[in-house]
Amino acid sequence: MSQHPRQIIHLDMDAFYASVEMLDRPELVGQPVIVGGASNRGVVSAASYEARKYGIHSAMPMVAARRLCPHGVFLPVRMARYRELSEQIMAIFHRFTPLVEPLSLDEAFLDVTASRALLGDGATIAEAIKRRVREETGLTVSAGVASSKLVAKIASDLHKPDGFTLVPPGQEREFLAPLPIGRLWGVGTATAKTLALMGASTIGDLARLPLALLTAKFGPSHGEHLHLVAQGIDEREVEPEQEAKSIGNEETFEKDLREQQVIERELLGLSTKVARRLRRHGVCGRTITLKVKYHDFRQITRSVTLPVATCDEGELYGTTKVLLDRTEAGQVPVRLLGVSVSGLTAGEAGGQLSLFATQPKKKGKQHGLHAAVDRITDKYGQQAIKPATLLAGEGKKE
Ligand SMILES: [Mg+2]
Repeated sequence: MSQHPRQIIHLDMDAFYASVEMLDRPELVGQPVIVGGASNRGVVSAASYEARKYGIHSAMPMVAARRLCPHGVFLPVRMARYRELSEQIMAIFHRFTPLVEPLSLDEAFLDVTASRALLGDGATIAEAIKRRVREETGLTVSAGVASSKLVAKIASDLHKPDGFTLVPPGQEREFLAPLPIGRLWGVGTATAKTLALMGASTIGDLARLPLALLTAKFGPSHGEHLHLVAQGIDEREVEPEQEAKSIGNEETFEKDLREQQVIERELLGLSTKVARRLRRHGVCGRTITLKVKYHDFRQITRSVTLPVATCDEGELYGTTKVLLDRTEAGQVPVRLLGVSVSGLTAGEAGGQLSLFATQPKKKGKQHGLHAAVDRITDKYGQQAIKPATLLAGEGKKE
């Protein structure tokens, strides 16, 4: 262990979108508040802690959430308002260190190692930030303090809401050991399943597996990664103001996909994940890229640039399906699928859609682009957006 361990704080607002709605409408406090897309394909962006008692969680289809809690308060996403508060919160973080790396509107890493002489240790600074955020915005934030990003992020999530978790240097392994493997960065369901078969269900179990076994099973790079993170080792630096160039997700399947229907279902899942991440970052993008790796490891990408930026899962899915037709997927078994969006702009980018933003539906005057897209699809169906997508189909190929 280093003699001068870093002091990293991970800060994560509690049920951010839902908390903002309750801040603006105090009569909603204590009620199950669910914020999300209004279209049939809409997903939950945030659920208040009251709503979570009904089993509602983010990324769940809105339709399912309504079924679980019919009397819940269902609200549209008001991205402009969330961004406003996000700027206020990030400005508070910046008073304590210039090394602030935002991960989304409501989440950031801070490296306060160099601030200690002036402001006190990591725990003192984290407490001060929590207080400032509460006093200046009326919202609560959970904090994790540790010597690495990995451990700080896991720590902040442990005692939500309004949590505070300190992992003293040297105690990273002990802290992680009892936690389920799924809490580790980069461990998806597939990896967790394989590890469970190898007898590892906690991070401590994983830490005890020999490195050679892990590299044999997962390949040298992923195997070594798993070995290191299980020991709480993560050397990544806090990178201030890192601007995302693109946002995407990909998935390698345990069994190659052969049927068109199954491939399309996976594509819908990926599109939903990516759309959600775009909205969490408060951005939309114009260039959509589909990546396909075939069973024989040949890899291709197909891209298209839309006339208007999007962060809507329905449109992403529709577009990637068009791109899929330009691949051999279905005739040739597919090993990996990836969806990414680049050419990112702030979420409110009006474009043609601003035409619709003037249509009254709810009283609020700020409507995010996604809300506008949701309204169009509600009113005119998915097809309303599709033709523009198809027209743009002669876009770039890579
Ligand atoms: Mg959060």
